[in-house]
Amino acid sequence: MTEDHDLDVVIVGAGFAGMYMLHKARGLGLSARCIEAGGDVGGTWYWNRYPGARCDVESMQYSYEFSDELQQEWDWSERYATQPEILSYAQHVADRFDLRDDIQFDTRVESATFDDTTGQWTVRTDHGDELTARYVVMATGCLSSTNLPDIPGRDSFEGASYHTGRWPHEGVDFTGLRVGVIGTGSSAIQSIPLIGQEAAELHVFQRTPSYSVPAHNRPLDPDERERIKADYAAFRDVNRLTPTAIGGRRPSIERSALEVSEEERRAEYEARWADGGLTYLGAFTDLLIDPAANATAADFIREQIEAIVEDPEVAKRLMPDTVVGCKRMCVDTGYYATFNRPNVHLVDLRETPIEEITPGGIRTSDTHRELDAIVFATGFDAMTGALLRIDIKGRDGQTLQDAWEAGPRTYLGLGIAGFPNLFVITGPGSPSVLTNMLVSIQHHVEWIADCIAHMRERGLHRIEATLDAQDQWVDYVNMVADFTLFPSCNSWYLGANVPGKARVFMPLLGFPPYVERCTEVAEKGYEGFALQA
Ligand SMILES: Cc1cc2nc3c(=O)[nH]c(=O)nc-3n(C[C@H](O)[C@H](O)[C@H](O)COP(=O)(O)OP(=O)(O)OC[C@H]3O[C@@H](n4cnc5c(N)ncnc54)[C@H](O)[C@@H]3O)c2cc1C
Repeated sequence: MTEDHDLDVVIVGAGFAGMYMLHKARGLGLSARCIEAGGDVGGTWYWNRYPGARCDVESMQYSYEFSDELQQEWDWSERYATQPEILSYAQHVADRFDLRDDIQFDTRVESATFDDTTGQWTVRTDHGDELTARYVVMATGCLSSTNLPDIPGRDSFEGASYHTGRWPHEGVDFTGLRVGVIGTGSSAIQSIPLIGQEAAELHVFQRTPSYSVPAHNRPLDPDERERIKADYAAFRDVNRLTPTAIGGRRPSIERSALEVSEEERRAEYEARWADGGLTYLGAFTDLLIDPAANATAADFIREQIEAIVEDPEVAKRLMPDTVVGCKRMCVDTGYYATFNRPNVHLVDLRETPIEEITPGGIRTSDTHRELDAIVFATGFDAMTGALLRIDIKGRDGQTLQDAWEAGPRTYLGLGIAGFPNLFVITGPGSPSVLTNMLVSIQHHVEWIADCIAHMRERGLHRIEATLDAQDQWVDYVNMVADFTLFPSCNSWYLGANVPGKARVFMPLLGFPPYVERCTEVAEKGYEGFALQA
């Protein structure tokens, strides 16, 4: 148990956001302490060690750009980096910038309370530590709070059970076992092909099928790597100008899917499918705006599923009928083909829902399946979960739980009215999970650091988003979402995967206009924020 008072900043979380925030804070000469629940740096890549865990953004893009030495000295080995490689990158960054000295690991922040008279935050941990600081930066992650469904009998299971987001460090050997995977989102789609190769029998319990495009992962071509490194800044600049801050291998087409001929449209989808990756959805400008345009992209994927999966009944069950892209698009290596294996079975929960988990397996409405292991690939309480699990009390004792009862409300996703000197990195209301997160994280860290430097230069000690600015921002985020097809299906972007969670579309679409707005706010002396001495 330690006491640390009068710090400038406490940072919660030591994933990529917290690590860079710590480095930046030190660069400003601030006294900073970072508290991390896990045993080392890396956040997402520390916790998600399931088989097949890998980045969906190409490795040359999913990395820090703040240090040219760092980006020049690090060599990614594959087009899409694996979890172990990203974790060693995070560890390399921690070593290189000597970050661990100021990070307290294996420690969970339980509460953060603002004292109006002193203008200080008091942060308390599960080890009884007490820290006081002028600023608190929540780098707690958008996808760090696991979601475990409350299935009757869940805890009665006598075999081994795992959540993909809390995977054992020593790995799991499924050889010869009867395994059930619950969920068919991104983590499931990455792990199922590998679990299917090991397990004696694999039962995949699917509630809603997902659209997935092939990764076509491969070793990174050294020439390509060197070409990018030769002018890394230009490569990053181009990527940052796309709505998702993710660059594609094919140029974006500034046309509607409905403007081109059937042949042209098909050729574009075929080329993007052959290239692989998330930029499939960048084929035309209106895929996430016009349902008819979207249907053309969705039909093409359904055709691919039909062609890959040998059993037409299984293929049909694997075909989503929702808007493509309104749930997070998945990127896979052999996902659909895995269902051609004789030991892999699809259980469609829309036809035969789970009734209970028993000591020996899972009972659906039609039968009981005996299992040795259950994998919960059931995702996260996204964007707000990690924040709301901390007892955060702002001005006048107001809790964040109360302030966000009807859904998260922020200004720019960075500040919250009623919670002075509290910053959130990639908070709800910012582009966050709709982007290459490393780009969004760096943008936020730099904005926060500039803001603190601005205040220090002017002898200001307190900053708080005004209610007016926040209300207008929330309206804007909703307006942008309503202009798109995103709110049309039950996604975790909307909080729909967590029973009882308020349904609000949390991220903001469009990285470049967002950055412009943040810059304008800063240039106008932090317009929309109240600053005080
Ligand atoms: C399986 C998976 C694949 C992903 N793939 C991609 C991808 O392809 N591209 C992409 O852009 N993004 C991807 N993401 C999103 C990913 O979360 C971000 O890219 C990025 O790693 C987030 O970094 P972060 O530091 O903001 O949060 P995190 O990495 O989640 O780190 C937050 C840290 O805060 C800690 N923490 C939380 N609450 C507390 C508390 N109360 N006390 C102490 N510590 C706390 C957590 O333990 C965690 O270590 C993926 C996420 C997952 C889960």
